[in-house]
Amino acid sequence: MTLSLNPPLSLDRIQAYLGGEDDERLFAAANAATLAQFGDTVFLRGIIEFSNHCRNNCHYCGLRSGNREVLRYRLEPDHILACAQTIADAGIGTVVLQSGDDWRYRADTIAELITTIKARHDVAITLSLGDRKPEELRLWREAGADRYLLKMETFDRELFAQVRPDSDFQQRLDNLQCLKALGYQVGCGVITGLPGMTDAILAQDLLTLTELELDMLACGPYVMHPQTPMAGLPDGDVLQSLRVTALLRLMNPGALIPATSALNALLPSARDRALQCGANVVMPSFTPQPVFASYQIYPGKNDTEALIDQRLTHLTEELSAIARRPGHCRGDTRRSHHVHR
Ligand code: SF4
Repeated sequence: MTLSLNPPLSLDRIQAYLGGEDDERLFAAANAATLAQFGDTVFLRGIIEFSNHCRNNCHYCGLRSGNREVLRYRLEPDHILACAQTIADAGIGTVVLQSGDDWRYRADTIAELITTIKARHDVAITLSLGDRKPEELRLWREAGADRYLLKMETFDRELFAQVRPDSDFQQRLDNLQCLKALGYQVGCGVITGLPGMTDAILAQDLLTLTELELDMLACGPYVMHPQTPMAGLPDGDVLQSLRVTALLRLMNPGALIPATSALNALLPSARDRALQCGANVVMPSFTPQPVFASYQIYPGKNDTEALIDQRLTHLTEELSAIARRPGHCRGDTRRSHHVHR
C-alpha cells in the first residue's frame, strides 16, 4: 500500500486526495511513513496556557478581545513555574508556554521564565506567544527556548485578512523566517474547513507549508464558537482534517505533527485516528483547574473535569489501544537541518 511522492504531489493530486479520492491508501501510506520515522512513539508536550488575554479579534476564536463573556486570567510567573514542575514531575520532556497575544508579560519576564525552567528541568521549551518583535524572539532563543509555534491558519492573503483582521500577513510570514534564522524549531499550521476556505486554497496551503521546510505542522478543523462573528457557521469536517494530516506527513516525513485538540472537540475518537494517519504528538494541558476551562478558543477545548493525572492515565490507555506508547523524551524534529546541527 504505497503512495509515490516522486515526483512530488501536484496541486491537482493534493486536491484529489482532499476530495476523498483514495482515503484508505492515503491513510495507510501516512501511517507507514510515521512508523518509519518515529516508530510507535507518540511524543507528549505539557502545555501551560498561562494567559487568555489577547489584543486581537480573530473571527473564529473565543479568546478574541471583543468577547466580553470570557473570564480572563493571567498566571503569575511563580504559578507558571509550578506548572512546569508538574510537567517535569510527570516525566514529560517538553514544556509549551502558550497565551493569547498578551503583551502584558514583558519580554524579560518571559526570558526569565525560560532560563529558570531550563535550569531546573531537563526539558525542551516551545513558545506559542503570537506575533512578537524580532528582538524579543532573539532574547527568548538566547534564554534557551527551543521551538516556536506561529500558525498562519491559511496562506491565502484574502482569507487571512477576513478571519484575522488585526494581523499583518506579511509580518507573520517574516516572523516565521526570523524564527528559522534564529535557530528555533518552527511550527505553523492551518485550520481546515475555515469559513471561506476551499479545497484549492487548502491544497496551496499544504504546498506552501511544505516549501517552508518547517519542523512542526498542525492542522485542526474549524470549530464554531458562539461568541464570535462566525457564530452559526458550520464546523469543519474531521475527515478532511485527517486527510490533511496524512498529506502533511507524506510531504514532510520528518516533521512533528500533533493530533490537535480541535479534532477531539468534534469527534472523541478523532485523536486516535489522527495518530494512525500521520500525527505523532499529543499536547495534554497542564493549565491549572481554576482557570483551565477559561482557555476556550473553541467549544470542547479544556472542557473536562478530569484532573491531569486522570487525563494522562486515560491517554496512556488510549495510546496502548492503538499500539502506540507515550514518548517522554524531548521529541525533536527529524528535519535534517536540525538533526545535523
Ligand atoms: Fe488571539 Fe490567537 Fe485567538 Fe487570534 S487566535 S484572537 S491571536 S488567541
